[in-house]
Amino acid sequence: MIAEVIVDVNSQELDRIFDYKITTQGVSCGSRVIVPFGNRKIEGFVINIKENSDFPSDKLKSIIRIVEEIPALTEECLTLAKFMKQKYHTSMASILRLFLPSEMRNGKVRSKMINFAVLNKSIPLDVMLSNIRKTAENQKEILNYLATIEKEKTSVLGEKYSYSALTSLEKKGYIEIVSERILRSPYQKLDATLNKVNLTSEQKNAVETVLNSNKPTLIHGVTGSGKTEVYLRLIEQTIKDGKTAIMLVPEIALTPQMLSRLRSRFNDDCAILHSGLSAGEKFDEWWRLRSGEAKIAIGARSAIFAPLTNVGIIIIDEEHEQSYESETNPRYVTSDVALKRAELSNAKLVFGSATPKIESYLNAMEGKYSLAVLKERVNGKPLPEVIIADMRLEVRKGNPSAFSSPLKYELEETLKNGNQAIIFLNRRGYSQKVICRECGYVAKCQHCEVSLNYHKTDNLLKCHYCNTQYAMLDGCPECGSVNINYSGTGTQKVVDDLKALFPSARILRMDNDTTQNKEGHYKILKEFGDKNADILVGTQMIAKGHDFPNVTLVGILDADMSLYFSDYRALERTFQLVTQVAGRSGRAGSSGKVVLQTYNPQNSLLNYAIKYDYEGFYNREIMLRKASHFPPYSNILRIMVEGEDEGKTIETLKNVFFASKDVYDKYQKSFVYFDRMKSPVKRIKNCYRYQVLARITSNFEEIENEFYEICERYSTRQTLAYLEVNPSNMN
Ligand code: ADP
Ligand code: ZN
Ligand code: ZN
Repeated sequence: MIAEVIVDVNSQELDRIFDYKITTQGVSCGSRVIVPFGNRKIEGFVINIKENSDFPSDKLKSIIRIVEEIPALTEECLTLAKFMKQKYHTSMASILRLFLPSEMRNGKVRSKMINFAVLNKSIPLDVMLSNIRKTAENQKEILNYLATIEKEKTSVLGEKYSYSALTSLEKKGYIEIVSERILRSPYQKLDATLNKVNLTSEQKNAVETVLNSNKPTLIHGVTGSGKTEVYLRLIEQTIKDGKTAIMLVPEIALTPQMLSRLRSRFNDDCAILHSGLSAGEKFDEWWRLRSGEAKIAIGARSAIFAPLTNVGIIIIDEEHEQSYESETNPRYVTSDVALKRAELSNAKLVFGSATPKIESYLNAMEGKYSLAVLKERVNGKPLPEVIIADMRLEVRKGNPSAFSSPLKYELEETLKNGNQAIIFLNRRGYSQKVICRECGYVAKCQHCEVSLNYHKTDNLLKCHYCNTQYAMLDGCPECGSVNINYSGTGTQKVVDDLKALFPSARILRMDNDTTQNKEGHYKILKEFGDKNADILVGTQMIAKGHDFPNVTLVGILDADMSLYFSDYRALERTFQLVTQVAGRSGRAGSSGKVVLQTYNPQNSLLNYAIKYDYEGFYNREIMLRKASHFPPYSNILRIMVEGEDEGKTIETLKNVFFASKDVYDKYQKSFVYFDRMKSPVKRIKNCYRYQVLARITSNFEEIENEFYEICERYSTRQTLAYLEVNPSNMN
């Protein structure tokens, strides 16, 4: 028999199938194997097995051995990988790698084995004891001890009695040493099981809709409407039916509450796929899923590749989040993969959000998805009241601070009542450029064409693109002036200002700086959840689905910030953000408030947001998209050309441009836009960035395929050309 093998090397040239003879036992489809390659031995994946090869038999080499007994990849995973290969035109090796913990490759991690001693039951205990020398007390004690229990770790016995006693007993055949796999569990056992609630009629309806639908279902539920409870019920039903489930969340570090809710309901049935776990833990969780021990995979987007069989449901929570799109190689869109995976295993597919993507809602409107709506909050409370603070008035009144008078007033009230508040800053707005007041010089990164951010705690300048750090400037390198300043409001500055306003308030900060280490997010969220702080200040991270019952006020400092982006999704993103952040307020007993600060109080988008009028927003937005030919009424194709040598990069850009110009000429009627230019961020990590940008309204697949082909044709060792389809980040 012949195995078709993809070697585990990510290179364009090696991205093809190699045939090997099968001369060892146990090789099957999906097995990882060691194969001879040139004069090396490398790992590979068996993706097919066939009778004959087109190569002459004497030219074929043989597989050396298999890596794991059980094939790492299931049939379904292989089919999914082949689908992705066809759709995204990336190398098969890079796709297959998504399906297993990276540490499994090259044998960096394997099962943890522990040795136990077990008594030989076929010899009566007193016979064994009488055969042991009087002086060998340790041996006798071990035998007596083992007679009382089933087994004990050899390490425990060795330490307590002696290792030589164990060896002697084993030699005599009185005890047996057995190896067992043990799991490195990333979490403690939870004994409290979450109270099961009675579903509201809206929740029941959502569950029924999903179960009765043979299409994907979009659950559009306002924040606090109990979507999570619906997911839990659906998963429960799926497990009852003998199937497995995949639950995706935007960012696992930000959703400890979701995890604990799943864990408390399903215990060891669920496994977490989380980049923050240790290599061993990651492997063990993966293994529990692969072996069928665990039936529910929960994780960020890559959990869509969970090694489960018989998947009955796939749930994508907060489906509008950008993190569901992989922006680095291999680029993929989670919902594409989920649709395919659901189709392959005939699974239900659920998208949930308070603010669905325009594309998803359109799908629901057009009947491609079923729609379930949760309009009411579970607690029966109305959505928090939104107070608009007109920042133009504040400026006129002579208030230069980041806090409007309504926000100050509401903060005071909140603190007085012993409740908690969240202050939200838009990440885009919190960059703190360093500017020379005399000549206008702006400090920039040496490797990227972006300005540096000032970080006060460590008095450093940092590049948010490549993480390079620089010492804070003493003077301007251009004109020598010492009148250097930083502009913009950062989280630190907001915390400082808050401390000045409310000296006795306990304030926590959550942003990229304070969440560097593995436990960072969890610690801060727990501190706040345990009411060890009164105010939480943060960026996008705090907008996610946290459920803090005691929060009655949310302040949005700069609701305008993202309104002015050239990105066609700027309005959609702002609407989502405002709604999500506002949803953190008033989730339990007391009703909540939101203060939204803006320089544009009349902006119609904000007016939809404060009324939580998603449909109103959607109707206006979809009309705009249609009129201006933006997605979902077109597709944006961007060919990125990147390289360290600017001349060579431009050369490749030219090749790519002229080739795609031919495509443009051929399909001119399909294009509403076509041009080449520098990318908005001209250089990142020393690579110059140019692009060919196109927007097309028809013949999408043909043009897309031709563009993919152009990228493959003109990429060189020095310059990379790759295609992005409707990229979520247009930098
Ligand atoms: P969402 O995910 O839509 O924001 P959650 O699922 O987090 O909402 O629900 C909000 C709160 O309401 C949670 O504390 C949850 O335990 C509770 N909850 C959900 N459904 C019910 C119900 N049917 N009865 C009582 N409490 C519920
Ligand atoms: Zn200067
Ligand atoms: Zn940089």
